[in-house]
Amino acid sequence: MERIGLKLPDFLKKSVPICPIRSIRGPLQSMKYLDEFRDPALARKLFDEIRAVTTRHWAIMEVCGGQTHSIIRNGIDQLLPDEIELIHGPGCPVCVTPLEIIDKALAIAAQPGVIFCSFGDMLRVPGSEKDLFQVKSQGGDVRIVYSPLDAVKLAQENPDREVVFFGVGFETTAPANAMTVFQAKQLGLTNFSMLVSHVLVPPAIAAIIESPDTRVQGFLAAGHVCSVMGYWEYEPLVEKYHAPVVVTGFEPLDVLEGIRRVVIQLEEGRAELENAYARAVRYEGNVPAQQMLREVFEVTDRTWRGIGQIPQSGWRLSEAYRDFDAERRFDVGDIHTRESAICRSGEVLQGLIKPSQCPAFGKECTPRTPLGATMVSSEGACAAYYRYGRWNTEKTESG
Ligand code: SF4
Repeated sequence: MERIGLKLPDFLKKSVPICPIRSIRGPLQSMKYLDEFRDPALARKLFDEIRAVTTRHWAIMEVCGGQTHSIIRNGIDQLLPDEIELIHGPGCPVCVTPLEIIDKALAIAAQPGVIFCSFGDMLRVPGSEKDLFQVKSQGGDVRIVYSPLDAVKLAQENPDREVVFFGVGFETTAPANAMTVFQAKQLGLTNFSMLVSHVLVPPAIAAIIESPDTRVQGFLAAGHVCSVMGYWEYEPLVEKYHAPVVVTGFEPLDVLEGIRRVVIQLEEGRAELENAYARAVRYEGNVPAQQMLREVFEVTDRTWRGIGQIPQSGWRLSEAYRDFDAERRFDVGDIHTRESAICRSGEVLQGLIKPSQCPAFGKECTPRTPLGATMVSSEGACAAYYRYGRWNTEKTESG
């Protein structure tokens, strides 16, 4: 903040929560280098340990799309004992951004005088009729940026244009977006706004557990989300639903260690919160980032694409920053959304089917011709199955 000429606000100087949970050390705690987390000998050891403790079927959800890709890329699901079923969760921000917001983005981006800024992965996400690339090809000024602050710079350089940033994602991307709106306000920018569609992981986990169709018995929580938010938020979930939650990273050994810990808890009839990603996650998380989030955003109900509305599962700009809300600033008229009739991404996102069980998988729907967001995003489960050649759900190797 001070480096970019802005005063550090007072709300960034508050006390931090203290972890009441005993520190649990695992076999990965002393490792430092990335290659070590891909070591085949250690992976074999972890597979052996999981196999040794497993006595019955367990269904475990990896919440994050990054974990899904690690699992599919490394064949972890195929090498686990047959009793362990991994269910791919909804933790892909591009995939769960609601169709209505995509259609609003398309409508705003098509307006004359607007510079519409987004990270690149949102440009191919299908709306009801087109995507942002098509808006760009039809003359809309749609630009890929690598930081939300790039959009603020564009607003400063183009005072006669309206600059809109597409702010989507989980707790990982939200702090930078909050900081950007905070900065735009401090700079007195009147031609900058943000189309906000942020979502929160803990309410989604609660919704999955409460779903009458759920089979999930334990969760690998997303390590990068917890690096921002800490893992104190998951204590009430573990207590209320009696489901183990293990904070887990993204390398193959991280994922295996998370699975090992969840399986041990399930086998012992325990439901506890553990942190298997201690090299990146602290109990309290990144407190200044959380304070910036609370300053700029407030919790609201959000619709998740393919899942539906989840109460209190997202953020919107708080009243003090509502002038920067693109939904308020632009009249986008009545939005009538229309999902693809054949896309089953909602069932994929809830773990009810595997991507390869969708009849359109690899036929009408490919990464070049995506029918749903789960085939577009680099974190989407359908894209992972396509990229790594998972054309059926059978294991090719037995654990
Ligand atoms: S394979 Fe394509 S059509 Fe099927 S669920 Fe995935 S994104 Fe939708």
